[in-house]
This record gives sequence, C-alpha cells and structure tokens, in this order.
Amino acid sequence: MIVMESPRIDPQDKSHGGPGAPAAAEASAPRTGGVQSHPWKMTPWRVLGNQLRTSTFDEVIEGFDADAVFAEAQRCLLCKEPTCVSGCPNNNPIPTYIGFVQEGRILDAAVADYEKNSLGACTGRVCAWENQCEGHCVLNARGEGVRVGAIERYIADYALKHHDEFEALIAQRAAERAAHGASSYTDPNVSAFAAAVGAYGPSVPAAYGADYGLPADTVLTGFTVAVVGAGPAGLACADFLSRRGCAVVVFEAQQYAGGLLADGIPEFVLPEGTVDAEVARLRGQGVVFCFETALGRDIQLEDLRREYDSVFLGIGAIKARRLGAPGEDAEGISTAQEYLQYTKVAISHQGVDGFEVPKVGRRVLVIGAGDTAMDAARTSIRLGAEEVYIVYRRTRAESPSRVGEVEHTLHEGVHFEYLVNPVEFLKDEHGHVRAARLVRMQLGAPDASGRRSPEPIPGSEYEQECDQVIMAVGYSADGKVIGHPEILTRSSTVKTRHEGGETELEGVFAGGDIVRGAMTVVHAIRDGRLAADAMGEYMLARAAARDEAPVHGEASAAD
Ligand SMILES: Cc1cc2nc3c(=O)[nH]c(=O)nc-3n(C[C@H](O)[C@H](O)[C@H](O)COP(=O)(O)OP(=O)(O)OC[C@H]3O[C@@H](n4cnc5c(N)ncnc54)[C@H](O)[C@@H]3O)c2cc1C
Ligand code: SF4
Repeated sequence: MIVMESPRIDPQDKSHGGPGAPAAAEASAPRTGGVQSHPWKMTPWRVLGNQLRTSTFDEVIEGFDADAVFAEAQRCLLCKEPTCVSGCPNNNPIPTYIGFVQEGRILDAAVADYEKNSLGACTGRVCAWENQCEGHCVLNARGEGVRVGAIERYIADYALKHHDEFEALIAQRAAERAAHGASSYTDPNVSAFAAAVGAYGPSVPAAYGADYGLPADTVLTGFTVAVVGAGPAGLACADFLSRRGCAVVVFEAQQYAGGLLADGIPEFVLPEGTVDAEVARLRGQGVVFCFETALGRDIQLEDLRREYDSVFLGIGAIKARRLGAPGEDAEGISTAQEYLQYTKVAISHQGVDGFEVPKVGRRVLVIGAGDTAMDAARTSIRLGAEEVYIVYRRTRAESPSRVGEVEHTLHEGVHFEYLVNPVEFLKDEHGHVRAARLVRMQLGAPDASGRRSPEPIPGSEYEQECDQVIMAVGYSADGKVIGHPEILTRSSTVKTRHEGGETELEGVFAGGDIVRGAMTVVHAIRDGRLAADAMGEYMLARAAARDEAPVHGEASAAD
C-alpha cells in the first residue's frame, strides 16, 4: 500500500510561504522558547487598513501566513485535558490539529479538524472564539489564549487549496482505520461498534472519534437520506452521512447553498468563495443538490419520508422580527435580513440579472447590537452612508455581538448609541422615514436571559433625523412549512428528543436554528453532525429489525 505523508512545511524552504519565508511585520516578535519566556501574547494577524476596508467588500481579517500560524501553534501547551475543546460547541479536536501544525503537517491538521467539523474555513472566520475555544484556553490565566480560530482558518483554507492531496490523505486515513477493523453496517455486533471507536486512525486520538453512539467510520452504503435546507446544519449532516456512503439529496429553497453563510454574513467577514469551495467539496463527494425546491411548496415531508430512509430538517430561523412601533411601515425601513441578503447577492451579481448595488441613506440608524446589526452597519458604511448609528437599548456589556465585530464596527466609524430605544418612526410627505423618536433607557433587574432588563426613562424622548432605518432585532423560526404542528413548540421551532435531533415523527431529524432559534454557525454544524450519527443508528436499527440490510459492497442508491 502506498503510504502518503502529509506534506510538511520545510522551515528552510521559503517558496511556499512556510516558516522561514519573510515574516509578516506584525508577526515578527522575538520568541526564545521555554516556559519562562513563553509568548503570552497572541501572534498578530493581518487586517485590511481602515481606509481601504471601508471602500471595498474585501475580507477585513486576512489571517495568518505560514510564519504566523507556526508561531501561534508553538504557543499551545497541548494540554492533556484541553479546556479549549470543551469551550468549542462542536468539541473540535483542537490540540490534535495544533500539534500537527507545530510539526508543520498542515494537511494532517486539516484532516483532524475535518473529523469533527465540515466547515472549518467558515468557522475559522465567523465563530465567537473569544467566548468559545480561545476564551477557555488556559493561557488566558496569565496572558492571551491561543488564537485557535485563525489556526483553524489557515489549515482549512490550505486543505481547500490543496484539495487533491487532502482527499488522498482522507482516503488513506480511512483505509488505515478500515485495516484496524472499523465496522460496517452489516456488523450486527454492538461491541464491534465500540471496538471501531477505539480503532480510530493513529493520528486522531480515540477520544475525539465519536461523541454519539455510532462510530464515525461506520459504513452506511445503501441508505438514502433527504436533507432539507443547505445551511451549515444541513451541509454538516449531508457531509457526515455521505462520507459514510449514504446517498444524500439536499433540497434547498434558494438557488444556492450555504444558508446564512451565503446570503446573511457579508463578504468582508466571509467571502462567497469560501462557502462555494466547501459546497464544491460536498458535490465532489457525491452529495446531490436540488435548488429552488421548497418544503411545503414544491415538496412535502410525507413524500420525503416515503422515498428516503431518513430526513433531516435544517431550514433555519429566518423570519425577521420587527419592533411593532408606529411608523415602521415607512419607506426606507427594512429588516437587516432583506438588506444584507439583497446587498450580498447584488454585489456578487453586479451588472447581471438586473441586480443593482443598493442605494444607501445619508444617515442610517441600525436598531439592535448583535452580529446582524454590526454587519448591517458596516455594509452601510461600505455603500457610502455618511453617518451610521447603532441604536441599542442595553449597553455594550450586554451586546450579543462578537467582541471582534464590535471593535471592527467602531474602527470603521460607526457611532454607538447605547441605552436608547425607538418608540416611533416619523415620515415625510412622501411616506419616507425622516426621523426616529427615541427614548433613553436605564437597566433594571435581570430578566429571564440573566441580562439586566432595559426600562424607559420617563420624559427622556427625543428625535433623531435619519433617512434609512435597518431593523436588526432578531430572527424567529417558522416551522409551519413542515406541515406537522404536533412537532413544533409554541415559538414554531421543532421539538427534538435528544442531541441527535430525533423528532416525534419517525425517521425525521432536525437541527440548527430551526430547533434552537437564531443561534450560531458552529451550533448548527454540531447539530448536523450529531444528527448524522443518530440517523445512521436509526437506519441501521430499522434495517436490522426488518432483516433487510443491504449487503456491504452492494450498489448504493446513488449509483
Ligand atoms: C447577518 C447575520 C450574521 C451572522 N453572523 C454570524 C457570525 O458571525 N457567527 C455565527 O456563528 N453565526 C452568525 N449568524 C448566525 C448563523 O448564520 C446561523 O445561526 C446559522 O446559519 C444557522 O444555520 P442553519 O443551517 O440552522 O440555518 P440557515 O443558515 O438559515 O440555513 C437554512 C437553509 O434552509 C433553507 N430553507 C428555509 N426554508 C426552506 C424550505 N421550506 N425548503 C427548503 N429549504 C428551506 C434556507 O434557504 C437556508 O438555505 C449570523 C446570522 C445573520 C443573519
Ligand atoms: S487550552 Fe490552550 S494551551 Fe491548552 S490545548 Fe487548548 S489551545 Fe492549547
């Protein structure tokens, strides 16, 4: 058997930009090694300058180069009980991949991450690392945590760029695991499953192999799966099931895959090409996409249940909320969802299909202070607004946005008005918004979310002129299209029985925002991955019960 080594970065070879290549100016802090001189500060990454960034939609954080990723990886202590892993909602095998980066084995690092995370190039750009992996790193006790997100982004981008070698290494690792006795669906012996977990490849510790019942390697050829929704939850579910041999068809209402990765999060945070590359990898793996096919309109759940062995619902939570304030129907007031979706699609289709880059107001008010609000404010700056205000009824401490996003938003010239809430929108004679009536707020006792609840200060109302208002006050789920009210909660999310996303409808699983309400990309990926495990178990158990499991090696439904 040909054994392929993951390409290593040669510290002396400067041709590929590996360690030894000219260092980024910010990444050149002297490092002497050893516990006493441990570099307690993060290795800086490259970012676009303020002047340039506010005039383009180019990605703002350019990330690490090979020198910087190597330097940052060296800071990691490879803890035996890594708190970063428990801090990551998807429990990514962080020290395993950082250990590979320390050795210059970038593709091995990417394969290790890929064992748990289908969309590393996306999470490496959009996660709230400060509160997740990085925030839980032990180095925070004396300095700054390891910049896990930037390392993940580097290795995942590297794998996408070196796609063929990456795929070959994955195949090699799978073959190694098979040689160690990983199970297939024909194995009826439950203890063989446990053995298979322990037989994880030599490069990935068994502990990271599977945190659900079914070993990640169990071969499931012969089963068919329908995934509804091509957001991160659906993509992760499709990925993990197709890796194991299932024939997976993804039904998506839009003309493109990615969900909010593709049409919510702006280019300057997550370039379109990143999502496209991840989706291309899935297509290459055999996943079939049916676009412009909406559940409840073009297809019905009952048909999918009849035609497929199991179904995953990952239709997200994209019903934008509104305040319900008088005057909210004025021209010039939109939801952030409409605004960001149209802008992102218009920028990438400029000049074709009748798309025009949207006109922006002179003075824009963005209501809310989550990631969506920051994205809407930063988009308005790029589109040429003269003044942009974030209006938020609490303070920065309660803002649900990522710390880094708030900092970028401030640097780009957006004004923040904390402890203020709109009570009315005023129209001009043409019905266009001309001002907002705002009231000052103060924080009272904590509410159900644990955050101090804002209360209006009587008599503090004032008017602020504006010619555009963007509502970024949250998203809700709308599970009615599923056609089964009995599996919905009162807030129209889908009820699930356990982490694997099993619903009360046999063979139907769900995950991501349609279950949790508006949440994060990494939570959606976790749900998709765990549902894939649970769906595999379900399909195996059902096939075993019917004693009709297809024979290993038999042609799959995809053939
Ligand atoms: C502007 C914005 C910025 C954000 N920034 C961040 C961030 O920086 N970091 C972060 O972690 N999270 C962020 N989020 C949240 C994150 O994008 C979501 O939590 C995540 O995308 C949820 O994934 P999902 O797969 O559950 O749903 P979605 O991404 O919403 O995908 C659902 C998919 O289902 C499709 N669909 C819906 N209905 C149907 C139907 N009836 N039939 C077929 N298909 C259907 C949709 O078209 C969509 O493609 C942001 C969200 C927004 C809106
Ligand atoms: S907690 Fe920090 S130092 Fe320890 S393994 Fe994780 S990233 Fe490395």
